[in-house]
Amino acid sequence: MQIVAGQEPPFGVRLTRRLARRTMTELNLRSGRSTETAAAPLKAAPARGSASAAATRAASGSDTAGEAIAGLRPTLIGLDRTELADRVRALDVPEKQVRMRVAQLWQAIYGRGARDFDAITTLSKGFRTALADHYSLARPQLTTAQVSSDGTRKWLLGLDAETAGVHGPEIETVYIPEESRGTLCVSSQVGCTLTCSFCHTGTQKLVRNLTAGEIVGQLMIARDELGEWPSPSDGRLITNMVLMGMGEPLYNFDNVAKALDIVADGEGLSLSKRRITLSTSGVVPLIERVGAEIGCMLAISLHAVRDEVRDELVPLNKKYPIAELMEACRTFPGLSNARRITFEYVMLKGVNDSLADAKELVRLLKGIPAKINLIPFNPWPGSPYDCSDWDQIEAFAEVVNRAGYASPVRTPRGRDIMAACGQLKSASQKMKASERRRLAQSSDTAAAETMA
Ligand code: SAH
Ligand code: SF4
Repeated sequence: MQIVAGQEPPFGVRLTRRLARRTMTELNLRSGRSTETAAAPLKAAPARGSASAAATRAASGSDTAGEAIAGLRPTLIGLDRTELADRVRALDVPEKQVRMRVAQLWQAIYGRGARDFDAITTLSKGFRTALADHYSLARPQLTTAQVSSDGTRKWLLGLDAETAGVHGPEIETVYIPEESRGTLCVSSQVGCTLTCSFCHTGTQKLVRNLTAGEIVGQLMIARDELGEWPSPSDGRLITNMVLMGMGEPLYNFDNVAKALDIVADGEGLSLSKRRITLSTSGVVPLIERVGAEIGCMLAISLHAVRDEVRDELVPLNKKYPIAELMEACRTFPGLSNARRITFEYVMLKGVNDSLADAKELVRLLKGIPAKINLIPFNPWPGSPYDCSDWDQIEAFAEVVNRAGYASPVRTPRGRDIMAACGQLKSASQKMKASERRRLAQSSDTAAAETMA
């Protein structure tokens, strides 16, 4: 498939949600096939009622990642080994075989990127049929792919709706190829509860948290699209992953932690936690758990060195001011010179870019093993700021460099397809109050607290 820079792919007039879902799950087509192929006659989706008692049993124990929606078979993507073992047992596999079947499935799903059970020839025909009768290996639905003139790719992904017949929400995932590495920027929520004044996502209310399967699914789709299966050990295109897409990952802590465990598993997707960076706007009470429980790298969206300014830019600062944030960084588990915290600082003309600000930044970070990322502000339609002048960014960087910090200025990537930092925003609408209440009851307390 040839995709022209900055344009929609040729199959393109975005596939409708329904067609896209049926196309992918039933015909197992990859994006990029012609419109004719995608529009070929489709088999009817299996009715939910046709599931056997075993499948019902199996599905009922699932989290949202594995729930059957609108008559579709629940996907196994996003399940950890324990959950996978439960699903295998529910298909009446003898207990002494469960471990081996889980290992085979794990390798096939997360290591080789299997898209249907028939392709998993390490399993017996009978077991493959039983799996296919009850489950799927569906990922989120790829609805649009764009390529920037600089090679950055942006994928728009449709998620399952919570209610049959309703369009599901959409998220964006971005791939940034560089000379020595390739970074996948994934979303953790649809929209965001926080309202940082310089961020496009911040203008979109929270629609919902992503499930672990939807977070892992973003990496799997990127691997599908880049043809990167089985998980290569050398010469990978996707070498790093950052949680810097839509949403605040710490307000979806449990699903993010589970997803990253799956992503880092050495027998599957095998992307080391050292190569995964979680970026937070500063949810202080949960920062310690990132180090202690997840073990990935940490980035802090600092953006200002005085509370009056940060209160404006990152309103969460009113709840967790700079001094508390810095203290959480100082005591971050596992912090060392080899494992530094990245501080992100968006350069806003006349707002936070003075040399006095640069000096204060150096003072604030004293004693913290840190890297500083200066990000030229990426504008979006209606955004209230201008990017700092280049000379000013250089002068700011100079102060920081002289103090001994590496402070690369992050080159904006994919601006022409609105894929740069902080430009992501989907057209998804906020969920109804009743749905939000349901989510608040079931998700972690931190998320519930912000949605109240
Ligand atoms: N919610 C998390 C992660 C997503 S935002 C967080 O805030 O850290 C990822 C990064 O993009 C953050 O550093 C964010 O501050 C930055 N960003 C947001 N809008 C931006 C914009 N318009 N230009 C440049 N960077 C932006
Ligand atoms: Fe949310 Fe991060 Fe954007 Fe702030 S910068 S609104 S926390 S996504």
